[in-house]
Amino acid sequence: MAALLDAVYDGEMTMDELLEHGDFGLGTFNALDGEMIVTGREVRQFRSEGIASDVPSDLKTPFACVTHFEPEQTITIDQPLGKAEFEALVNKMLDNPNLFGAVRFTGEFEKVDTRTVFCQCRPYPGMLEVVAKQPTFTMNNISGMMLGFRTPPYMQGINVAGYHLHVLSDDRKHGGHVTDYRVLRGKLEVARISDLEIALPRHKEFAEADLLPAGLSEAIHTAEGG
Ligand SMILES: [Zn+2]
Repeated sequence: MAALLDAVYDGEMTMDELLEHGDFGLGTFNALDGEMIVTGREVRQFRSEGIASDVPSDLKTPFACVTHFEPEQTITIDQPLGKAEFEALVNKMLDNPNLFGAVRFTGEFEKVDTRTVFCQCRPYPGMLEVVAKQPTFTMNNISGMMLGFRTPPYMQGINVAGYHLHVLSDDRKHGGHVTDYRVLRGKLEVARISDLEIALPRHKEFAEADLLPAGLSEAIHTAEGG
């Protein structure tokens, strides 16, 4: 994640390789070409218009986070919950703040705000410059799936501390990186994750990246936060 902030937008791992490590998750693509959601064996790519497309298996990623999701707890949500209430509920279910959590909500949303990064050309601008121009969308009254992770605070920089969720509409056509939402009703599934495997790029750009700059946390919050 810190490498993305330093404009390292090309990774070495293909979708095929990524899917060996999990069938549930999120990320982005080389050249920052859209937002990724992984559900089952399906990888979808949301480009700047927030429209989903299929993904060639040899496409690569500079940042992605996947798991083999096995829900430990499932509950039914039958009342509207905003982002803060939803996160508080998931925190309570996950209980341990120092473990990763995987989260999946399937159901109806009153609204979801999303953004999608868009394909960059070299020389790459910094991520904060990119996100300042990123297209944002609001989807009202949609059904879909929102999934992602809660990352513990001490993992900031390796990943995005706190919640990082992507959404995919039921028609598989729309979605992106979630910045705000209000759920109406549906199924919430969570699992704690205590095993972590990290694959780092071996290329020169990563070798030369500044991965612990001053203000890293604030920058990640600006780039990825809601
Ligand atoms: Zn995202």
